[in-house]
Amino acid sequence: MPPPRVLCVQAHPDDETIWTGGTMALLAATGAVVDVVTTTWAPGKPRHAELVDALRTLGLPRAPIMLGYADGGVAESSTRPPLTAAPFDEQVTELTAHIRALRPDLVLTTDAFGIYGHPDHIHTHRLCLAAAEAAAEPHLYPEAGEPWQVSSVYLVTVSSSRSGRAWEEVMAARGQADPDPAFSFGSPDDRIDVVVDVREVLDVKWRALQAHRTEFERSRTLRAIRALDEPVREALLGWECYLRRDLTAGGRALLP
Ligand SMILES: [Zn+2]
Repeated sequence: MPPPRVLCVQAHPDDETIWTGGTMALLAATGAVVDVVTTTWAPGKPRHAELVDALRTLGLPRAPIMLGYADGGVAESSTRPPLTAAPFDEQVTELTAHIRALRPDLVLTTDAFGIYGHPDHIHTHRLCLAAAEAAAEPHLYPEAGEPWQVSSVYLVTVSSSRSGRAWEEVMAARGQADPDPAFSFGSPDDRIDVVVDVREVLDVKWRALQAHRTEFERSRTLRAIRALDEPVREALLGWECYLRRDLTAGGRALLP
């Protein structure tokens, strides 16, 4: 079987690398064509250029597709409306058109809780699932291209048992030692369908993350990750975990 075509849909520049960068680097190394859609930030902004660098570092030569909605936390990210406030049907049409043009076998996005509850992540999950289903339906959005059936969607999450302690350390280092008890990173292991060990490409993933230079200046979380001892950082970034959702009988495996 030829390598799959893969589409990764994430909310902000840096999410593609933190949550799914190792998987994409491994897929690219098998010859898979991997594209990234980022739902916030306008093309031409510094974070767009940083994202381009990050993808090249991961071995993905193609430029990211920016939907260009405003980041919920950064008004100057775009002149378009905030991601969570724009008309949903227009957003689904837009992403459906990209799915039909790119024809991915596999789609990666975030889990229903946006990994840790970020509204832009949750919205991106909903948008991605709606568009993955709509893409196959010929009566929906006929102007958005020929129907295309995605085989499987993989929802990235964090394993509480593998990475929970490392995330607690990040929270403590960024000055949030006693987070809201409702705030939790990740999923229990019995919910996780696929664990990808990305330690062999961890140096590549870490270099790609550091391409997001302005985010290291802005984000206490990224600076806290940089300050971790290497074994803790490996626990944090060395595994990427997914819930698998097949849209066709049998679906398609993530990696050979
Ligand atoms: Zn994000």
